Amino acid sequence: MRTYHYKTKSAEETMFFAEKLGSILQKGDVLTLAGDLGAGKTTFTKGLAKGLGITRTVNSPTFTIIKEYKGRLPLYHMDVYRLEDSDEDLGFEEYFSGDGVCVVEWAVFIEEYLPQDRLELVISNKGDDEREIQVTPIGIRYEERVKEIM
Ligand code: ADP
Ligand code: MG
Repeated sequence: MRTYHYKTKSAEETMFFAEKLGSILQKGDVLTLAGDLGAGKTTFTKGLAKGLGITRTVNSPTFTIIKEYKGRLPLYHMDVYRLEDSDEDLGFEEYFSGDGVCVVEWAVFIEEYLPQDRLELVISNKGDDEREIQVTPIGIRYEERVKEIM
């Protein structure tokens, strides 16, 4: 298992990279997305959505836990922060093995429901408009495809 590092110098560059990733995603893919407030998680997800052919505006799902967008494949954008103190199962397995792509923010809070194979993304703020995106494909399902775009 290896981690790729991708640096961007603007929100547009982050979106462009995410769009490229979005264009190779397949049904049943699960991505975890971590990073501090303002790191660029929502910006990244907007780009990813574009790569999935989604035209609707993507916003933070903070007040809804799961937001669904229709595109080439459906995107399920989840922010499970509010499940920190509960182990409530909102039917995650059906989402994860379902017809679309899942992006999970604060995935540590639902660790027990996450599939073993997944694509882990971490965005760090390196000052001003610089960001580093760490991409760790876990499982053969992701390794080959990620290698191609990195
Ligand atoms: P989060 O969802 O992680 O809290 P947002 O995507 O909402 O973060 O906010 C990131 C902010 O940082 C946006 O205002 C965006 O324009 C800005 N930004 C500046 N440089 C970058 C970059 N290289 N990548 C992503 N966002 C950037
Ligand atoms: Mg956000």
